[in-house]
Amino acid sequence: MKDNLALKQEIPFGRPWIDDKDRQAVMQVLEGHILTHGPKCSEFEGKFEQFTQGGHAVTTSSCMASLHLCALHFGWGPEDEIIVPAQTHVATVHAVELTGATPVFVDCKLETGNIDPEKIQEKITSRTKAILLVHFAGIPAEMDTIMEIAKKNKFTVIEDCALAVGATYDGKHVGLWGDAGCFSFYPVKHMTTAEGGMLISKDKATADTIAQFRAFNVDRTHSERKTPGVYDVVGVGLNYRMSELQAALGCSQIEKIQQNLKIRKQNFDTLKSGLLAIPGLKVLDSDNAKSINSYYCLVVVLDDTKLAIQRNNILAQLKEHNVGCSVYYPQPVPRMQYYQEKYGYESSLYPSAEKISDHSIALPVGPHLIQKNMEQIVATLDHIIRNL
Ligand SMILES: *Cc1c(COP(=O)(O)O)cnc(C)c1O
Repeated sequence: MKDNLALKQEIPFGRPWIDDKDRQAVMQVLEGHILTHGPKCSEFEGKFEQFTQGGHAVTTSSCMASLHLCALHFGWGPEDEIIVPAQTHVATVHAVELTGATPVFVDCKLETGNIDPEKIQEKITSRTKAILLVHFAGIPAEMDTIMEIAKKNKFTVIEDCALAVGATYDGKHVGLWGDAGCFSFYPVKHMTTAEGGMLISKDKATADTIAQFRAFNVDRTHSERKTPGVYDVVGVGLNYRMSELQAALGCSQIEKIQQNLKIRKQNFDTLKSGLLAIPGLKVLDSDNAKSINSYYCLVVVLDDTKLAIQRNNILAQLKEHNVGCSVYYPQPVPRMQYYQEKYGYESSLYPSAEKISDHSIALPVGPHLIQKNMEQIVATLDHIIRNL
């Protein structure tokens, strides 16, 4: 049985979906002479606005850059406390830390992996300035409740949407609930520009100001310069721009996003129903009708003490059986060395985040895979668990 399974086709965890149209799009830019500051970034921003509906988009060099731009734009500093999820990519928290503000960690809900709104309340102080949340693995956070808290306290809300292209809450795309949303086009995300990111905001002035800041805070773009070379600088700034090569790839990638999301949903549904037939497994997913998952991957929690302590063994065996898997995320951020040393760590404060880090497995559902691969994942995991 074991050998039989091991011979099966390799299932990578993530693989960018690049086809001839993508390659041609990049080559076309190379054949011209505008490699940056050009029409492709604007075109990509337009397509992204059309897809997310109702916001203003700004291309950036990465999601981390988008998050950093938000933290700087909203003026976070050493006097401020920013509420962040304990269970997220470290980039979410780095954006706060880079400004000198203090990240205040909040545990997640075990059903979704998302920040628990009830636990936000108890972390609010007179210094709290904003909530920076993540939509965990593409599952939208409870945006109506969170926005209510924010409104009552006049907090800024920033959404880390790195894994949430296509995720909506109550019909609105994530990133448009708060003051800004940050996306990633890193190779294994929903769509890619190699490196690259986007920022969206329902507020045009926010998007415009951040766009200017991300390009040295020069007061006019190349196309707006009537006299060549003549411009002024209205404040300090950065260079967090996306190149035309990347934007061309983004334009081509976004054409496939609906198909991409459809395959992800099918794969997720097949994998979820297969896994739920195995005792002791719990699958993180949207837990209410308002929230539409973008199915970045499937996070399965080993919800049984005997299984849970074998998590790393199961990961190793899945790899042996050619099933790509990962952990989202391997530590609650406050437990990572840097943050633990700086702020101390008390594990009793983050039981759900710890459970996800220590007792879960992330499995692939991307468009590089078909239903048969999902069945193979279920059979392999079932086999491993039975033979523990
Ligand atoms: C990948 C990821 C990031 C970082 O994205 P980059 O584009 O690589 O900077 C940030 N937040 C989350 C939740 C991510 O998954």
